[in-house]
Amino acid sequence: MIIAIDGPAAAGKGTLARRMAAHFGYAYLDTGLLYRATGWKVLQSGGDPEDAEAATAAAEALTPTELNNPDLRLDEAAQAASKVSAVPGVRAALLQFQRDFAHKPPEGKPGAVLDGRDIGTVVCPDAPAKLFVTASVEIRAERRLKELLEKGIEAIPARVLQDMKERDERDSSRASAPLKPAEDAFLLDTSTMDAEAAFAAALSFVDGKTKTI
Ligand code: C5P
Repeated sequence: MIIAIDGPAAAGKGTLARRMAAHFGYAYLDTGLLYRATGWKVLQSGGDPEDAEAATAAAEALTPTELNNPDLRLDEAAQAASKVSAVPGVRAALLQFQRDFAHKPPEGKPGAVLDGRDIGTVVCPDAPAKLFVTASVEIRAERRLKELLEKGIEAIPARVLQDMKERDERDSSRASAPLKPAEDAFLLDTSTMDAEAAFAAALSFVDGKTKTI
């Protein structure tokens, strides 16, 4: 079983995907980390994340241990991720790893949950259950701000909103695997939902799917 969860930043897909994986005993892959690690690697070596050659080389040389770096959670890493992720060579380099994870989940788990931007459209178009999780950009910026404050990181609300809009725009308008719902995705707008309500709605959708396959 493969559950594909896509959507923009801070829509609640990570929380939902983790919970879903725990509920079903499936493996979980946060595919954003692959792009963050690639972007971060380019930044660390003094390069420009928009430089296609440098970004592709970084993606091709990525190792699993690099995904554990706590710095990948920084907004700087997110912005770099959204730049390297527009490079077709980067997407190509990361594709097989994601597909292998989905089709042969680690530790012999019976299924996988992947979250990202193009899981239902490009990585696993054959996934039996696809969700597109979204929320208004203002709500998402508010959530991100709260997360940052909880981590003790000071942030300017208008700046967080602006960064979120820029990332949305870059992710949705790129030519290679843009952020968009798969035609058969279940749309879940979490603007007025808490994590519990989002989980219940998603679970009832996925339960319906598992009964029909
Ligand atoms: O999900 P997260 O915020 O960690 O993703 C960081 C960036 O990585 C996104 O803004 C997007 O540009 C890119 N990404 C992508 N495709 C994915 C996952 C993430 O392009 N499947």
